[in-house]
Amino acid sequence: MSGFNGLAVPGPTNMPFEVRRAMDVALEDHRAPDFPEFTLPLFADLKKAFMLENGQVFIFPSSGTGGWESAIVNTMSPGDKVLASVFGQFSHLWVDLCQRFGLVVDAIECDWGTGVPIELYEQKLAADKNHEIRAVLVTQNETATGVNSDVKAVRDVLDSLGHPALLFVDGVSSICSIEFRMEEWGVDVAVSGSQKGFMLPTGLGIVGVSQKALDSRPKSTLPKTFFDYDDMIKTNKDGYFPYTPATTLLRGLRASLDMLLGEGLENVWARHNRLAEGCRLAVDAWGLTLCAKEPKWYSDTVSAIVVPEGYNANDVIQTAYKKYDLSLGAGLSKVAGKVFRIGHLGYMNELMVLQALGGAELAMRDVGIPFQSGAGVGAAVDYYAATPQAAALAAE
Ligand SMILES: *Cc1c(COP(=O)(O)O)cnc(C)c1O
Repeated sequence: MSGFNGLAVPGPTNMPFEVRRAMDVALEDHRAPDFPEFTLPLFADLKKAFMLENGQVFIFPSSGTGGWESAIVNTMSPGDKVLASVFGQFSHLWVDLCQRFGLVVDAIECDWGTGVPIELYEQKLAADKNHEIRAVLVTQNETATGVNSDVKAVRDVLDSLGHPALLFVDGVSSICSIEFRMEEWGVDVAVSGSQKGFMLPTGLGIVGVSQKALDSRPKSTLPKTFFDYDDMIKTNKDGYFPYTPATTLLRGLRASLDMLLGEGLENVWARHNRLAEGCRLAVDAWGLTLCAKEPKWYSDTVSAIVVPEGYNANDVIQTAYKKYDLSLGAGLSKVAGKVFRIGHLGYMNELMVLQALGGAELAMRDVGIPFQSGAGVGAAVDYYAATPQAAALAAE
């Protein structure tokens, strides 16, 4: 097919040309004497991206899932209690991982389309007088349903109760796209991956760890080798790694951090919010609804769009892919066939969102879903034309 293919899934995201160019390099010696001149500033800038002052950010050659595993095996022991909530495929998988490591998970089942139940967390933590709950899990952005949860509210609950549990956040599809302030919000472990907000190929698990979580390591009895923070700390200190790092991806990460920090994280978040808002107005103009049930849950990185009764969302996705070379995100697990997802995160601008909306319109037309042609695209055009770009706002 002629023309660029459209990638509108919520990860992997589109890769900037600057990042591609930065990775078009010969392989290098990761034990070279000047390697730390590259890695030490990289580690420092990565902390800025997490908004972390104390503690450390680790880079594993893995994916977001490996980041989850690292959080658990370095801080927890079999039988430890953790509090979690499930409202989509990713929050579900995180609980599954904890259970496979022998943790006792109190997993609150929530409606898909809602997010972390703050009041229930508060009740459970208040009832836990002996402080048996060792960690509280928050999936900040549930990528399967396009739901964003309030991390800071969970920190406030812990603080108001004086509860010492660690706060773990899955930020795989939110960090560097949606507001995330690790130090200020007192997050103890924050997990991300390279192929979403960081705009890189898959291959890195990127994990921010607070000083409090680092200090809790001696208590943990779970076995660990590949994901052992001790080995990372010992070698990272001098700019090296305990085993071969993904040097090419690290070069890409350098370029991606330059772009993100150059734009300014607040501007990056504002850009995502504006692009997402255009998409949401389009969904409304089509006469369709989001899987996210209320505005407070709306995600600025992915919209999960519910197709009308009697239609299969997979037909929309298949048509978009086969006929228009556009990848839309599929519904996972409970919402399979019911939703298609538009990812609007990472290296994205108005035109790329309009491409996805236009492609969705074409595919929905083919499938026979009733709506006014151009209604969604038009609503987004009107909104983008009427609102200033984040970069322009910042320059004022
Ligand atoms: C993508 C994603 C994951 C899984 O990350 P992988 O890099 O695929 O291992 C976990 N949580 C959320 C919220 C995600 O979006």
